[in-house]
Amino acid sequence: MPVIQQNVSLQSFNSLALPAEAEFFCTVRDRAELRAALQFAHSRQLVVTPIGGGSNIVLAANLSGLVVHMDLRGVSHRAVGRVIEVTFAAGENWHQQVQSCLEQGWYGMENLALIPGSMGAAPIQNIGAYGVELSDLFVSLNAIDKLSGEAVEFDRAACQFGYRDSVFKNAARDRYLIVDITLGLTTQPQINIQYPALQAAVNQHARSAAEIGPELVSAMVCQIRRQKLPDPELIPNAGSFFKNPLVTRAQTDALLRRYPQMPHYAQADGDSKIPAAWLIEQCGFKGTVRGAVGVHDRQALVLVNLGGGNGAELLELAAELCDAVKQRFAIELEIEPRVYGAD
Ligand SMILES: Cc1cc2nc3c(=O)[nH]c(=O)nc-3n(C[C@H](O)[C@H](O)[C@H](O)COP(=O)(O)OP(=O)(O)OC[C@H]3O[C@@H](n4cnc5c(N)ncnc54)[C@H](O)[C@@H]3O)c2cc1C
Repeated sequence: MPVIQQNVSLQSFNSLALPAEAEFFCTVRDRAELRAALQFAHSRQLVVTPIGGGSNIVLAANLSGLVVHMDLRGVSHRAVGRVIEVTFAAGENWHQQVQSCLEQGWYGMENLALIPGSMGAAPIQNIGAYGVELSDLFVSLNAIDKLSGEAVEFDRAACQFGYRDSVFKNAARDRYLIVDITLGLTTQPQINIQYPALQAAVNQHARSAAEIGPELVSAMVCQIRRQKLPDPELIPNAGSFFKNPLVTRAQTDALLRRYPQMPHYAQADGDSKIPAAWLIEQCGFKGTVRGAVGVHDRQALVLVNLGGGNGAELLELAAELCDAVKQRFAIELEIEPRVYGAD
């Protein structure tokens, strides 16, 4: 049985360092502890909220019920033809596993280096960066149904992955506790450096084409990310606070007539993705400070807790940015992290 505590501060369990308490809290390290925690919650009719690294949550109020820190550990693998299927327990750290797989010569995750958080949370928003998404590597996951307590396997189709989206943010929201995920990696590197900043960094560092491999790609991704994004340990943040909005071709054309310099990335379906950071920057918010919270001065997409800020203040600032972007561009921004306590 895991130790279950009452009225536990979650400030050190969320990368925005927002003050909030869990009514009940426990850390589970294996499936037996997870089942025991679920039984405890069931017997008291408590809502169960899983957390991993807390790098994609906004705590705007105390959390009632049982917060379960999903710290299940373990990694195993098997060869399936030319693919290495690696199964990671939910509590394994994403970046450490990217590095560990690289060391083993298992490739595919290198563009996703340095994304904070746990393996178990990665499918929730189909994490992505530098031209690669989790769904590109995904094989399956195992989860426990909070309602029935039953084990359920999801394959890629069942996860309904989209841009920073999955079934776990929609029809299956709050229903499953992911216990492990399996990714298909390869011993034959397939370099993806289509993303312009990554391509430039790789080309600048490689002395010959032979040097361009997954290790260099991972190192360059880490370098770019360290330059661009504030370290949550130093300046608490949740990474990108908004998704990059998708707009129709007609709306893109109309905007381009007014803002010819607007960056936009055409999607396969004809829509365009507009960088939310550019929209926020155009509205003059880069570096804005509102009390103890603000917009990062080097990356307008990142909202930061400057020390002592709370969730309500942060959401107020987010609403101010959304209003400004909507007024100027007629585009609705959508918050990327999961917000607790504001609904
Ligand atoms: C500096 C910084 C940079 C970032 N860069 C990126 C990026 O490039 N790309 C990107 O996609 N994201 C990025 N993120 C967001 C974040 O790293 C990812 O969303 C990550 O997957 C969150 O993992 P976590 O363990 O911290 O999840 P948490 O914040 O703990 O949880 C997020 C959500 O997942 C649920 N959850 C967590 N674990 C489980 C589980 N085992 N079972 C069921 N539900 C679960 C929680 O209930 C919550 O709703 C960044 C964040 C930061 C702070």
